[in-house]
This record gives sequence, C-alpha cells and structure tokens, in this order.
Amino acid sequence: MDTTQKTGSRKWRPLPFKIYRNIASNLPGVMLRPKLLLLDLDGTVYRGEVPVPGAAEAIRDARAAGLRVLFVTNRANRSPGIVARQLRSLGIECRKDEVITSAAATASYCAAHGGRRCHIVGERGVREAFAAQGLLSVDDGPVDWVVVSLDRRFTYPKLAKASAFILGGARFVITNSDQRITIGDDILPEAGAIAASIQTVTGVEPVVIGKPSPTLFREALRMAGCAPEEALAVGDYLGTDIAAAKAAGIPSCLMLTGVSTRADVERSTLRPDIVCEGWREFRLFPSGFA
Ligand SMILES: [Mg+2]
Repeated sequence: MDTTQKTGSRKWRPLPFKIYRNIASNLPGVMLRPKLLLLDLDGTVYRGEVPVPGAAEAIRDARAAGLRVLFVTNRANRSPGIVARQLRSLGIECRKDEVITSAAATASYCAAHGGRRCHIVGERGVREAFAAQGLLSVDDGPVDWVVVSLDRRFTYPKLAKASAFILGGARFVITNSDQRITIGDDILPEAGAIAASIQTVTGVEPVVIGKPSPTLFREALRMAGCAPEEALAVGDYLGTDIAAAKAAGIPSCLMLTGVSTRADVERSTLRPDIVCEGWREFRLFPSGFA
C-alpha cells in the first residue's frame, strides 16, 4: 500500500514524530523542512548540570543535515560565551555567536527604539550585552531606559532609584518575566519578581523581551535572516517556549524532557505542532523526510 498521502499539491510521508492529533491535519508542508532550530536550554538540552539524553547527537545530526542552530534563552545573567562553554562541556557543539540571550535581545531592542542612556538593574551578562550595543550604563539622570533583569544584589535603594527614573519618564523594559529560577539547589526570585516590585511602585507595565513575548524569537530570526515559517522552536515549557513561538508565528516542538507534560498539553489551549518524548524521537527528524 502506498503510505504517502496527498495534501493539496504536496505529498508527505507519515511522520516519525508523535504529532498532536488536532494539528496534524493542518500541518503546513513548509514546517517539515525548517532551516533553523531555535533551542531552549534548561529542560530541553540540559537539566541542571546534565545533558538531556540524545540532545548532543540530535543537534549534531541537524547540523549535518544543513540546519542552522541557535540556542535561545531567557536567562540574562550569563554571557553567550559562558553559555557556549557550558554547552561544549556537556558535549553539545556550540559557538558563542549561536547563543542569543534575553539580555542581548533587550539591548538590541533598546538600540533600535532610540535612547542610549540605560539604567540597568541586573548582573554582568546584561551590562556586557548593553556595552556590546554601544549603549551607556548610567546611574544618574537623564535616563532613557530602565532595564530590569535577574539581580541577586537587588536592594531597597535600587528599587527606589529604578522607580524614580520610570516616574521621571524613562521607559521600562525587562529581559524576561520569569518569577523564579533554580540555580544549583536553590529556587531564587527571577527578573519578573523584581520587575513586579517596580511595577507596583510606578504603576507602569514593562515591555517584556524574553519568552513568552515573541520579541526574543524575532531577534533570533533577524540574526539568522529567516522567516518565522522557516524555523522550528524547540522547548520544554508550554507557558514560555510554545507561547512565544505561537506569538511569533514559528512552528513549535514541545520536548517532554522538562517542565510540561503530555497531560498539560491536553489541558492547554496552547498546542505545539509537534510533541516529542525526547531527543531520540527528534533525531529521526533531519533524515525523516524525503
Ligand atoms: Mg526550558
């Protein structure tokens, strides 16, 4: 029996993925041949200090099949060089220009929207990203942007100062809206928690750059010179990775190797285009289509 099916003018083979049933019937052919993978980090390619099984091999195979790979992370306090080194130490091939952090995307956003004087509440990775864009990090007015990120030395004076600049007219942007982050054995407040305190003082809602906002993915597309439908976003969390991909118009793959479960998918209105148990399933992908 011929196992190919005719969909419009396009023939496609049964896919080696478990594809979400409700979506599969509308699967656009272009999605099956992405040029670019946008990969989440924690929960997707590693968990803490340990690589997710099969990730290194799958990424290597994707590269060999001619796909570009970008690692796209909400975490702003580490530079692309540090992230790339960490990935290589886990056996995952990565150059630093293949890492896009929410810090870099935030700096790019601020540079594109005018005003160079930035007051940064954040750690080294954010300051480096802003310096790389030629933006000034200032602690005195006038201030064009108040930039908020993970800052493990956040204090009442910092809250007061950042709030005063915003009340004085500075624009308020945050690298990511995550409320918590796990570092080692500790669960710590993330940028979203710090930003919430500033929002409470000022009544001003920040522009969010990281996932689930589409801005981080749009910046990655711009860097790669790809259209949304030419990419495939891969992540472990419906609420950020899949939500951001949907908002940016990018096909998405939920990897069940981290936060979200298949039961979460069933309950959610956010439906990824593909659901994979793990990378071993995904590995079939580059060679899986004729
Ligand atoms: Mg993740």
